Amino acid sequence: MAQANASDTDKVLSIADNVRRVRTRVRQAAERVGRDPLTVRLVAASKTVDAARIRAAIAAGVTILGENYLQETRQKLGQLGRAGVEWHLIGPLQRNKVRYVFDLFDMMHSLDRLELAEEINRRAERLARRLPVLLEVNIGGEASKSGWNPTGLLNDIRQLAGLPHIQVRGLMTIPPPTPQPHEARPFFRQLRQLRDRLAQEGYDGMTFDELSMGMTADYEVAIEEGATLVRVGTAIFGPRPERH
Ligand SMILES: *Cc1c(COP(=O)(O)O)cnc(C)c1O
Repeated sequence: MAQANASDTDKVLSIADNVRRVRTRVRQAAERVGRDPLTVRLVAASKTVDAARIRAAIAAGVTILGENYLQETRQKLGQLGRAGVEWHLIGPLQRNKVRYVFDLFDMMHSLDRLELAEEINRRAERLARRLPVLLEVNIGGEASKSGWNPTGLLNDIRQLAGLPHIQVRGLMTIPPPTPQPHEARPFFRQLRQLRDRLAQEGYDGMTFDELSMGMTADYEVAIEEGATLVRVGTAIFGPRPERH
């Protein structure tokens, strides 16, 4: 057991180093394109990561956790409390689970279809709540990915604007995997351009300040293209075990 403890300590120490390294890179990427680094917030993507490691990340300065699974998030909140950080839902949500979101999450990045938006609106109204959300765009048009394609979003946007209990703050995307980070740049740029268009058209009750884009492989490129929220898991916590 002593050995397991030693390696746990090492992991916790390396998490602190990792957080520092990622934050430095975030700042440098912002500065490269003349952006204020404070306009980029780091979301530590902590799915499958245990409470001790999450605590280490928070101690090292992480202020937002991104989680994918409701049950896992509930367990972590039981162990950590809210821990003075924001909890963001970044994974897909089933319609029959909507009622659980309000107590768990401060924001949802992964609102990916109109019917889900309508269900969230209905539930939120009952609770007298308003949920901050980002609209997920399938910018690469992949069949395997959820989210609106840009045309579909432009079609649905008025209906979304008519849902007073969801508070749209911006857009989110997961681009197709690319061998090199710079190859993701056109996707990030397209998301920003779509955001600029929506912001310019202007919709009641919606703001489009946030662009959630960029993960371990490509967050620096995403920042150069305007990301305000980067969702970084592996670069902070190391490789994830497979989930079965
Ligand atoms: C897991 C996950 C991430 C983090 O991925 P890494 O490559 O480990 O940085 C980001 N966004 C979403 C939606 C995720 O599910």
